[in-house]
Amino acid sequence: MRSSHWFVTALAFAALAVPAHAGPKAPTSIPCAVCGMEVNVKDSVKSGLFDDYKGHRYLFCSADDEATFKKHPAKYAKTAKFIAIPKHKKA
Ligand SMILES: [Zn+2]
Repeated sequence: MRSSHWFVTALAFAALAVPAHAGPKAPTSIPCAVCGMEVNVKDSVKSGLFDDYKGHRYLFCSADDEATFKKHPAKYAKTAKFIAIPKHKKA
């Protein structure tokens, strides 16, 4: 029978196709770039508590920490965790 072979081939293609569409896994929370407190990625972006610096997006727990980061971005960007900047949002 050839039908089972076709089925396996179709499954293999489906498995390969999924990661390409999903893209890299985005974290739901990362540490604040200044103080290290865990912040929710969606909430921070929604509140505008983020800064795009040198192709990366840094998140903050508060407006104070965002202001601190903006004063010395290079200092904090060296050690801070970041996420990818969404490509569809061009300012
Ligand atoms: Zn903070």
